[in-house]
Amino acid sequence: MRGFRFYAAAKMTVIHSAEFAQEAKELKGSIPLAQLSRLHDQLADTSGEVHWHIEGGVDRLQRLWLYLEVTGDLQLVCQRCLTGVPWPLHSETVLTQFTSEADIDEAEAIDEDLEGMLIDPALDIEALVEDEILLALPIAPTHTQCSDKDALAKLASDKPNPFAVLAQLKTRKAE
Ligand SMILES: [Zn+2]
Repeated sequence: MRGFRFYAAAKMTVIHSAEFAQEAKELKGSIPLAQLSRLHDQLADTSGEVHWHIEGGVDRLQRLWLYLEVTGDLQLVCQRCLTGVPWPLHSETVLTQFTSEADIDEAEAIDEDLEGMLIDPALDIEALVEDEILLALPIAPTHTQCSDKDALAKLASDKPNPFAVLAQLKTRKAE
């Protein structure tokens, strides 16, 4: 029953998104990376944790918003040598809340920078944080310079061996 134990241990923070904003609330917390299973394919190391900070408020147009900040030190997988590459996560988002998809579409059409969400009476913060990290992750992380021995070996096998090229030239000359 490993799955069950993991589920029971998983932390859940649930808020009413509209009430949270109306009351100008603020919350902070952290989540172990081990718990964010949707990220695992892209992590070289699932130890450690991410920190989140959420605030609510009302804008000048009387619209409710949520501000979410997520930070952490992640180890992604280098797409060149497949070993860990450190990546500092720092994501900040403002989500403006609406009661219908049509209102979101209308508001986003007027303001390109606006990100809309539907009012959620049971918003799962851990899931929201996981979504934000997935959006923030680079598509193809790489080291500036791969130094791992395996990486050098891989690089060598991908490129034609210079001695083989030389041998080919010599053969041609002789023809
Ligand atoms: Zn690398």
